[in-house]
Amino acid sequence: MSESLISKIGVLTSGGDSPGMNAAIRAVVRTANHYNIECYGIREGYNGLIHDDFTRMGPRSVKNIITEGGTILKSARSLEFKTTEGRKKAYENLVKRGIDALVCIGGDGTFRGAKIFSEEYGIRVIGIPGTIDNDIFGTDNTIGYDTALNTAMDAIDKIRDTATSHNRVFFVEVMGRDAGFIALNSGIATGALDILIPEKKDSIEELFATFEKAEKAGKSSSIVVVAEGEQLGSIYDLAKATKNGFPDYDIRVVVLGHIQRGGSPSCADRVLASQLGYGAVIGLMEGQTKVMAGMQSNKLVYTPIEEAIKKHNEIDKNLLTISEILAI
Ligand code: ADP
Repeated sequence: MSESLISKIGVLTSGGDSPGMNAAIRAVVRTANHYNIECYGIREGYNGLIHDDFTRMGPRSVKNIITEGGTILKSARSLEFKTTEGRKKAYENLVKRGIDALVCIGGDGTFRGAKIFSEEYGIRVIGIPGTIDNDIFGTDNTIGYDTALNTAMDAIDKIRDTATSHNRVFFVEVMGRDAGFIALNSGIATGALDILIPEKKDSIEELFATFEKAEKAGKSSSIVVVAEGEQLGSIYDLAKATKNGFPDYDIRVVVLGHIQRGGSPSCADRVLASQLGYGAVIGLMEGQTKVMAGMQSNKLVYTPIEEAIKKHNEIDKNLLTISEILAI
């Protein structure tokens, strides 16, 4: 490899945390070490940049963290970084330490901040997609999505046991913000009767027709998986409407919530985080900036942050058809 353009980098985790962020930090720190680049961890996302909360990281600083959920650097939502004064302070702290480039691990908000910062001060930035929502364009999967999906699947499997024992209908809400990836895939994997996601226009009439079809087919218990961003209504509204339409049903609502953000990362997430952490440092060494490292069809690719923010990964609508056919 030709001589690197950078000699000191900073790494931070920002926005919503996701399992596998630690594995990404580890990969950044160890790749930097391998190529003789000094590496600093910045605590609590952009807040640490502003408040000068840096820590020098070497290969031993990241020992035994590949198995850990969350992020050892902690994450934060920094309102101050959204102001020009905040970003000025952040830049001064980077200059003071002679840091040439930043690796920002997070979601689209984190990338938006990185892009603005880079445009204002010319600092090199590279993004690593870390979010359970899988809503970032430029990578097949984001770090944390696979773990969250499996957590949702395990939880819904357990709910099914009790649903079957009592002939109940369960509405289960899963995370994903405006994206339905977790809902669609966990719904298929657990044999949900119906899956409601924001990418598809749903109606109460269709939902009721599905219940009627299930009844005719002799189904005595059912699970409906609802994405948190579903447009038809909140999970409570949907359960209430169903109770009105089917007064005999014994209906329960479960919101899985933050358990989906935690836990030891899956093998797929650890491998992805290792590839992207490595890829981010290599990208910076090769002169990339304002891009996001991603994996597409098993290849490391760099997508302009601008595109990663603006475009969205499409869900596979065919999976909805498959789910409809297989659920009854
Ligand atoms: P995520 O990265 O998970 O989407 P957020 O949307 O909360 O999470 O963004 C993380 C952080 O990125 C914010 O708290 C803020 O510090 C920074 N950020 C987001 N948008 C901007 C912006 N337009 N300008 C500057 N900083 C931003």
